[in-house]
Amino acid sequence: MSKKILIIGSGIAGISSSLKLKSFGLESTIVDKGNFIGGRVGTRDIKSKDNSDYFFHGAQFFTAKSYSFQKIVQNGINEGYIKEYGKFSPPRYRGLKSMRDFLINLSNKLNIIQNVKVTHLKPHNEKISVLEDRSSIWQTYDAVISTLPAPQNLVLLKKFLTLKKTLKTASYDSCIALMFSFDKKPNNIPFFFDYYNQQSILSWMAAGSNLCFWTAHTKGDFSNKNINKDKILLKDQIFQEIEKAIYQLEPNIKINFHSLHIWKYAKVKKVCSGPQIDPKFPIAIAGDFMVGANVESAFSSGEKAAELIRERLG
Ligand SMILES: Cc1cc2nc3c(=O)[nH]c(=O)nc-3n(C[C@H](O)[C@H](O)[C@H](O)COP(=O)(O)OP(=O)(O)OC[C@H]3O[C@@H](n4cnc5c(N)ncnc54)[C@H](O)[C@@H]3O)c2cc1C
Repeated sequence: MSKKILIIGSGIAGISSSLKLKSFGLESTIVDKGNFIGGRVGTRDIKSKDNSDYFFHGAQFFTAKSYSFQKIVQNGINEGYIKEYGKFSPPRYRGLKSMRDFLINLSNKLNIIQNVKVTHLKPHNEKISVLEDRSSIWQTYDAVISTLPAPQNLVLLKKFLTLKKTLKTASYDSCIALMFSFDKKPNNIPFFFDYYNQQSILSWMAAGSNLCFWTAHTKGDFSNKNINKDKILLKDQIFQEIEKAIYQLEPNIKINFHSLHIWKYAKVKKVCSGPQIDPKFPIAIAGDFMVGANVESAFSSGEKAAELIRERLG
């Protein structure tokens, strides 16, 4: 009889878990509390009469250092939904249309349900019982992979003591993303600004789907201290930094504020140590917190969780 497997979270870790299970002949269902797939591979759409433009307010690009992710990226390039981003070593990539579009294409054969929030998980005989916010009835699954950021996963998995211990060892930096646009295409502005090794509250600022739509990200130290600050003050402080950088290169361009997005658990500062699968029950965890603070690491942790679940199910 076919197994009933649930994956919580439609970010890259959830998608890679489901793809890997599929490669073993195991079907799974992904549920996510958000409106869109992708999690922190986030895209904000600006629809106009004739087309759409995109801010990339989460991950800006991804690398593909491992053989397994290189295969995914090469396939996306061949099928026309991934492109190389700039000329970096090692190479960086983006979705051709948008970052989210990369995940939409990658997951097009998977069973994904958005707007479903899992609220409780508990062991049940040799299986896992799950409660979500659309129903008051517990559903039982043969296996579960949970891919929420570690602090949220910790709350959900409080009945699974070994995984709880693993999850407690992770820590994150927050990040504040400010989206802004120009009325016309700039002439003297590069497509990204890297502030990682410079003195600035910003860490990175880059164009989205074209040179008119931009996102600036703040550094971890600044973000951790300021995520609860008054939004207007925060916006003004970040916007001033953006103006300084842009006006030096193009003094006459008009900069329009679009919106602010706060990522509480943005980038993993310390990865987890400890088992990824419960010693007794068929439940595993996956996400960037198991391997490293980036898209590719989240992908590989999803594959690993799927392998562990396959072994457990025999
Ligand atoms: C601002 C920012 C910039 C970044 N820049 C880069 C970059 O340039 N390059 C790079 O490689 N990486 C970057 N990263 C990191 C990268 O985005 C993450 O490492 C990766 O996307 C994490 O994927 P994930 O699947 O582990 O988690 P997530 O993408 O967070 O997925 C978890 C999913 O779980 C869902 N969820 C949460 N709670 C529940 C619940 N109770 N029930 C159901 N669903 C739930 C969420 O909605 C979410 O979709 C950046 C991250 C941020 C925030």
